[in-house]
Amino acid sequence: MYGFGGTVLRINLETGEIRRSPTPESFAREWLGARGFVAKTIYDEVPRNADPLGPENLFIVAPGVLTGSFAPCGSKLGFGCVSPLTNGHADSNMGGHLGPEIKYAGYDMIVLERISPKPVYLFIDDDAVELRPAEQYWGMGSLDLEARMKKDLGEDFQIATIGPAGENGVGFACITHDFGRQAGRCGVGAVMGSKRLKAIAVRGTKSLAVHDLPGLTKHTYDIIQRTKPHPNMEPWQKYGTALFVSWANEHGCFPSRNFQTTYHEGWEGISGEKLAEEVLVTHKACFGCWMNCGKYSRARIPGKPDTYLEGPEYETIALCGGSCGMTDIHHVAYANYLCDNLGLDTMSGGNVTGFAMECYERGIITKDDLEGHELRWGNIDDFEHFVGMIAARRGIGELFSHGTRAAAQKLGRGTIEFAEQAKGMEFSGYDTRWYSAQLLSYCTADIGAHHNRSWAITADIELGQDTPVGKAPVVIYLQHIRPLFDTWCCCRLFWGELDVTPEEHVDAVRHLTGWDITIEECMLTSERIWNLTRAHYLERNGGPGRKHDVAPLRQLEERIPTGPAEGRKVGTENFEYMLNDYYANRGWDAEGNPTREVLETLGLPRIADRLEKLGLLGKPIPGGIPKVRGQKLKPKAM
Ligand code: SF4
Repeated sequence: MYGFGGTVLRINLETGEIRRSPTPESFAREWLGARGFVAKTIYDEVPRNADPLGPENLFIVAPGVLTGSFAPCGSKLGFGCVSPLTNGHADSNMGGHLGPEIKYAGYDMIVLERISPKPVYLFIDDDAVELRPAEQYWGMGSLDLEARMKKDLGEDFQIATIGPAGENGVGFACITHDFGRQAGRCGVGAVMGSKRLKAIAVRGTKSLAVHDLPGLTKHTYDIIQRTKPHPNMEPWQKYGTALFVSWANEHGCFPSRNFQTTYHEGWEGISGEKLAEEVLVTHKACFGCWMNCGKYSRARIPGKPDTYLEGPEYETIALCGGSCGMTDIHHVAYANYLCDNLGLDTMSGGNVTGFAMECYERGIITKDDLEGHELRWGNIDDFEHFVGMIAARRGIGELFSHGTRAAAQKLGRGTIEFAEQAKGMEFSGYDTRWYSAQLLSYCTADIGAHHNRSWAITADIELGQDTPVGKAPVVIYLQHIRPLFDTWCCCRLFWGELDVTPEEHVDAVRHLTGWDITIEECMLTSERIWNLTRAHYLERNGGPGRKHDVAPLRQLEERIPTGPAEGRKVGTENFEYMLNDYYANRGWDAEGNPTREVLETLGLPRIADRLEKLGLLGKPIPGGIPKVRGQKLKPKAM
């Protein structure tokens, strides 16, 4: 088969048994890789009552069809499992160089089963696959361990690690690679840690069979030539995603002090420009990328050791910076380093810490809960102490280690109203009170509030920020197109910023595999995955679906107090309107349950049978399901 490594690897961590099987081409074509492979395998194989951190959960590592190919920016690698944060389907992906290395070793999916009796790391050197002891690495920080393993194994191994947070089962623990690329969301690092798998080290030296090498070469060459002079190229190379900090403040969507407001006084101190002036050491790129948006930086704070990190990216600046009240780029960079080395997702980690800071401000938690420390806005020492408590699950750190929803449920006193999360997943770095399509995106996403599933801010601007009308079909389109990049496994920034079209990515898939695949087929695949993960969520968490698509009260009813979006809120009525419109356009019933008709259209009749048995199948829609589900605008997407 062209374009794939050819082998699915299964490893039983309890017994050490290693099995290999050929990757079926029909499976590859139907699910395309990464997010698709994970969704199908988790749905089929993990019992619905399995504890996310128990032996029955699977931990899956999977490149996508374009990973490691000569197609533009095919750098991505997917990780998947059932999430300890949301109790639903989880997938999270990272750039860097590990994905291509796994493909070159010949593997399309690595399925890790059960729990190892002792800490181990997975060693792959082409056909040599071993579980090696990792007691000597247990307890080490993610970044420290990667440096150590590069020394132990050699520079030509690509390595992914977890930190103490992953070992300790923190619900938003991440996986780190290349000293700063993360599979950050859904708690995939906690599941890796629950398996006692401290690291993955891979060297792959085989070649990848390409169906039409001259065609793919010309295709990629033409895109490189066309995008080099693109006006967005230079600013992205200079500032990376951090260039977005000024835009988000000007547009009233930047979270400040746990999303209390959406314009951050002092944002200039944590902007992309400040990053370039003050902390930037050099630029970095993932495999196959000529945009090099990665920024390698040094944080310098008097009284603390200099620290080196990749970032901070926009999301980290928004959540560890704005949402925690910081105004100094060195402090944000240091916070980034702390989270990376502890193995905490900077997005959920920053969001949870901002939430805890508001709890401290309101007197809901006190110094007595914080081992005598404070938790003040913008204070990096307080931030350092608090995230240390979370990673170790020490004292009140245990309460916050399962995310804002779980913490608010335990704290009570109305804290759930300002816990900025959906389905247990903390918001990405965009407030939505002036951006209702983005709120709908967060609340209906299968994995919770992650902008990777749909970034609709510019769609809101195009459609009108103060209206709920017309938002739902565009969100559905974005929820199909955007996660496709996590399925193909190429970087979506080339689409959003350099105008490389989805159709051009499909052209690359055609050159690579020889398939007669189209964008329409890919969009149908994406919709199939979306419905499958929706069914998975309902089967694990009960129905109806509508009861899970819930927005925080702050986003619905609390007016923005300052800045360009002053006075705005979404309003419960508008949100309910969008939700009704969303379900109708998806072909789900009014309770948010998928219908048989839509599932059968997507080739999922067995799932319809299963939902019917469980009483979770949507009622037939009078007049039938809409033919086209989702509507393309031309929003710029990031
Ligand atoms: S644009 Fe940035 S994230 Fe995307 S592949 Fe290049 S370096 Fe990686």
